[in-house]
Amino acid sequence: MRDEPKKPKLKLETDVQYLKGVGPKLGALLSKRGIRTVLDLLTYYPRAYEDRRAARNIGTLKGDDLVSLKAQVIKVSSFHMGRSKRKIYDVLIRDSSGQIHCKYFRVPYKGYFERFQPFQEVRVVGKVTDYRGKLEFHHPDLRDIEPDEDLQDVLVPIYVEIETLSSTKIARLVRLVLEQLPPEAVPVEKFPAALREKHGLITRWQALQQLHAPSPEDAAALMEQKSAAHRRIIFEEFFWMELYLAARKSGLQKEQGVPIKARGELSERLIKSLPFELTGAQKRVIQEVNKDLAKEHPMSRLVQGDVGSGKTMVALLAALQAIEAGHQAGLMAPTEILAEQHFRNAKKLFEPLGLRVALLTGKSKAKERGELLAALEAGEIHFLIGTHALIEDVVQFRSLGLVIIDEQHRFGVEQRAKLKRKGVSPHFLVMTATPIPRTLAMTVYGDLDVSVLDELPPGRSPIQTRVIFDSKRVEAMNFMAAQIERGRQAYIVYPLVEESEKIDLKNALEEFEKLKTQFPKYKFGLLHGRMKSDEKDEVMDQFRKGEIQVLVSTTVIEVGVDVPNANIMVIEHAERFGLSQLHQLRGRVGRGEHKSFCVMIMGHAVSQEARERTAFMEKTSDGFKVAEFDLELRGPGEFLGSRQSGLPGFQMANLVRDVTTLMEAREAAFDLLKADPKLAKPENEHLRAELFDKHGPTALAGIA
Ligand code: ADP
Ligand code: MG
Repeated sequence: MRDEPKKPKLKLETDVQYLKGVGPKLGALLSKRGIRTVLDLLTYYPRAYEDRRAARNIGTLKGDDLVSLKAQVIKVSSFHMGRSKRKIYDVLIRDSSGQIHCKYFRVPYKGYFERFQPFQEVRVVGKVTDYRGKLEFHHPDLRDIEPDEDLQDVLVPIYVEIETLSSTKIARLVRLVLEQLPPEAVPVEKFPAALREKHGLITRWQALQQLHAPSPEDAAALMEQKSAAHRRIIFEEFFWMELYLAARKSGLQKEQGVPIKARGELSERLIKSLPFELTGAQKRVIQEVNKDLAKEHPMSRLVQGDVGSGKTMVALLAALQAIEAGHQAGLMAPTEILAEQHFRNAKKLFEPLGLRVALLTGKSKAKERGELLAALEAGEIHFLIGTHALIEDVVQFRSLGLVIIDEQHRFGVEQRAKLKRKGVSPHFLVMTATPIPRTLAMTVYGDLDVSVLDELPPGRSPIQTRVIFDSKRVEAMNFMAAQIERGRQAYIVYPLVEESEKIDLKNALEEFEKLKTQFPKYKFGLLHGRMKSDEKDEVMDQFRKGEIQVLVSTTVIEVGVDVPNANIMVIEHAERFGLSQLHQLRGRVGRGEHKSFCVMIMGHAVSQEARERTAFMEKTSDGFKVAEFDLELRGPGEFLGSRQSGLPGFQMANLVRDVTTLMEAREAAFDLLKADPKLAKPENEHLRAELFDKHGPTALAGIA
C-alpha cells in the first residue's frame, strides 16, 4: 500500500478525463456539453431534485405539486408550433391510478424523446401544472428507471443526461469531485465579504456543495429553485453581466464628445409648422435628449415607444439641434423602404428651413453617390438618411454630431466602433422597433439611458382586432371593401418564412391575382422582398398617395411604414407570426384619425399556442404587454432574435422568473462601481480580474 504512486491532487483545472472512472471516451462525451475541467463539472448544475419521500401516484396529483413518480409510457407524439421550426413534444404516461400528459416546448437534447417507447417504465420528476382545469406536466424530468437506484438518499439531484451518460452517473462523478477536492483547490470566493453580507449571499463554494450534495431538509427550497444556493448562483450570473454594463457605461461617460448647444430656433420653427401638437411624452423625451446633447460626453440614449407613438418626431428634433449647432446628423434605418420614407418626410419638413437632406442607400448610383459624398464632406448636406450604407468607410462627414438609429433592437456596438474609427464620437440616439420589457431592456441596453414615449397622439382609438378562421375569409374581404368604399386603404399581409419562401411567395402572388378579379374596381399593389428597390419605391409611393387601395405585401412592411389613411390590415396565416411581429405589423394601421381594424386569418389546424397568441392580440393593444407575454412564451434569446449575440447566456438565472434578483444584482453592481470607480480597492481585486477574464481589456477601459 505504502508504495502506491502518489496520485496528483485534484485541482479545478484538472481535465475530467483523469477522474476515476472517466477516461477519454466519457471525457469526449462530457466535453460535448462544454465540460472539460473539474470546475466545468461543478458548474453543471442539477436541473431538478427528486424527493423520494414524495413519491406519489397520478390519481392523487394536484396543481403545483412537485412530485416524483414511477409510470409507464403510453405514447410519444409531437407537433409543430406555429410558423417556427420548433416542435412540441407530448409524452403520455400512466400508472394504475390514472394518466397524464408531459409537454415539452423545447427539446432537452437531440434524441431525448426517441428513447421512450410504449410500455417503458419511467421516472417522472416535475411540477404539476393546472392548465385550464387539466393537469399536466410541463418539462418534467423523464428518465429510465435505474436498476441501481440508490435508495439510501432521499433527496437526489437530477442532471440533464448527456447522451448515454445518465443523471445518476453524473451525480456520482460530481460527488467524487466534491469529496476529493483538497481545501486549497476550492474555488476562490470572488465576492467581497461586504457584498455578500449586504445581500445575504452564501459563498460560491457553499452554494456548489448544497446544489450537488443537497440536504433533505432543504428539499422544498431546492426543488423550487429558491434555495440559498440557487440565490447565490443566480445573483452571481446577473451580477457579472451588470458589472460589465456598469463598466461600459462609465466608459461611455468618460468618452470625449462634442457638446451640442443650440437655442432651439430651428426646432421651434419646425414645431410651428406641424399640423399637430407634440404629445406630453414627446416633449418630455425631447427635453431629456437635449439635456444629453449639451453634455461633454456623447449621449447614448434609447427611445422606447409603442408603434405609432411618434418616435420619428423626437429624432428629427434632435437632428435639428445638432444642425443648428453647426454639425451634421445621420439617420440609419434597417430597410430601404423605411429609409426612403424618412427621407421624404424629413425633406418635406427640413427644406422649408433651408436645410439639405440626402438619401444614401445601397442602390444609390455611382455618379449621384460621388456627388453626394463630396457634398457631405464639404458640410453642404445637413442631414443624411440611409441604410447600413451610411457607415461605410467612404462616407465622410465634415462634422458628424448625431447618429440616429431607427427601429433597431440592439444598439450597434460594431457600428459605433466603425464610426469612432473615423475619428468622431457622435451622440447616439437609438429608437427601438419593439417595446422591450423593462427587465430585458435593462440587460440588453443596460449601458444606455432610456426614455419612454408612453403616450400615443390624441384621437387614436385602439385598433379593433378580430381573429377568424379561413372559412370566414369572404366576410373579411367584404368588410375590407366597405372600408375602402369610405376612402380608406388596406394592407393584406402574407407570412414569408425563409425555409418556404418560394411556396409562400407563390401563395401571395396567386391570392393577389384572385383578389384583383374579385374586386376589379380597386387598384392593388404588390410588395415583396424580391422586388427591385425602384419597384418597391414606386409601389410605396402610389400607396402613400392613395392611388393604390390595397397593398398586398409580405413582411417587408413590418417596421416603420407610416400611411395614416390605411386603416385596415388583414393578416394571412396569423398563426405563423410571433406576438411581437403581429404587434409590429398591426401597428401599420391606427396611425391616423380613422377607426382602425386588424383581421387575423388562421388556418384550422393550428396549435393551441398559436390560438393563445392571437387571442392575446384580440385582447390587448399595449405593446409592452404584448412584449412581456412574448418574452414569457419564447424566452429572451428568441424574443430578441438570433442577431442578439450580445445577450449573455445564463445557466441558472431566468430573466422572467428572477426579476427581483436581477434588479438587486444590478443595483449592487452599479453601486459598487460608484463606490470604487476603478475597482482599485484590494477587496475588489477579484471583481476586476473576473471582468478582464470575461470581457477582455475593453471592459476595463471604461474603468481605467
Ligand atoms: P413610430 O413611433 O411608430 O415611429 P411615427 O413617428 O412614424 O411613429 O409616427 C406615427 C404617426 O403619428 C405619423 O404619421 C406622425 O406624423 C404622427 N404623429 C407624430 N407625433 C404626433 C402628434 N404629437 N400628434 C399627432 N400625430 C403625430
Ligand atoms: Mg418609426
